[in-house]
Amino acid sequence: MSDVAERLAELRDKGLQRRLRLVDGPQGPRVLLEGREVLLLCSNNYLGLAEHPQVRRAAADAALRWGAGAGASRLISGNMEPHRRLERRLAAFKGYEAALLFGSGYLANSGTIAALAGRGEVVFSDELNHASIVDGCRLSRAETFVYRHRDNEHLAWGLERTHGKPALIVSDGVFSMDGDVAPLEDLVELARRYRCRLMVDEAHATGALGPGGRGSVAAAGLSEEVDLVIGTLGKALGSYGAYICASRELSEYLLNAARSFVFSTALPPPVLAAAEAGLGLLEAEPQRVERLRANATALRDGLAAEGLSPGGGESQIVPLEIGDAGRTMELCERLLERGIFAQGIRPPTVPAGSSRLRFTAMATHEEEELRQAAREVGAAARELGIATPAPRAPALAA
Ligand SMILES: *Cc1c(COP(=O)(O)O)cnc(C)c1O
Repeated sequence: MSDVAERLAELRDKGLQRRLRLVDGPQGPRVLLEGREVLLLCSNNYLGLAEHPQVRRAAADAALRWGAGAGASRLISGNMEPHRRLERRLAAFKGYEAALLFGSGYLANSGTIAALAGRGEVVFSDELNHASIVDGCRLSRAETFVYRHRDNEHLAWGLERTHGKPALIVSDGVFSMDGDVAPLEDLVELARRYRCRLMVDEAHATGALGPGGRGSVAAAGLSEEVDLVIGTLGKALGSYGAYICASRELSEYLLNAARSFVFSTALPPPVLAAAEAGLGLLEAEPQRVERLRANATALRDGLAAEGLSPGGGESQIVPLEIGDAGRTMELCERLLERGIFAQGIRPPTVPAGSSRLRFTAMATHEEEELRQAAREVGAAARELGIATPAPRAPALAA
């Protein structure tokens, strides 16, 4: 008991204690946050599909037709028509033979990596990969070689010297807290050279990058070369859950071997129907992706015009690194007073000393409100005497 109290006190002392904030209403461009209207700048509802009338209606209709829950895992009695249909559509959208749904991105990553790598093998993982990838590596009992962020030379060095069998290279496509993109061509080349599988997590790339929002792998024209892509239904697609796309054989193997698939209840029909409606809207209205991109640029340019140095590439994720956790939360609170909500991101979500505000643009924002928000950020940062460090140069691949 006292142990937990001590650990909480330690978190408080380090400025790392977290708490839940209450959002009232759907994830639109503006929300009521604990009674105050704010511009929402930290939701992953990138395309505004979570609150879209057609998506809501699809969920409601599916609840009436199929019920609220699936009742069991897919392999027992929970496999329904909406699962099969959505898997087919996702595979077609991503250009893969097959797709397999999982309860969440966390479950997809942890279960898939653990199923594809084992004792005596090695998984190669970018140091800034999402926590669910890190946990998948731990679950696998394989050795994990963590290579420096986007550093192909370090990865190649590790592949060359490994004593175990290289089983898998795994990377975020768009890095969730940094917004930069993995060097996919080099990863493909290394995976081929060392005869191991390549898995790319497209959680933040689907709906945001590539032709029609098909993701970073499709943007690089590498769908034929990347063995598995993971995507989520809970971000740009506006619903909840996740999927992997792969060959029919790999997908059939995961259906048998991924414990997070086998031992977990199937996604509920309303969630599936919402995701399918979201996917339909993405396909029918690719201009949403263009809006997202334009809005991200407006936000990035606005922050730069304030003398701030947002990091990342050109994605919808616009991180503003502050460094110290306490200072980051001060800026976060100051912005709330100015009607802007961008949650502070602290360790262990990001490495120690790199706490940040992680702004995310949505297609449903107006460019002008993003420019105004950037001015507010500039003013709040000046009030607090915060100068953001220049973004670190991306790791060079010599
Ligand atoms: C959000 C996220 C996940 C987890 O997906 P959930 O469906 O939210 O569990 C996995 N990988 C990355 C890169 C993410 O950003």
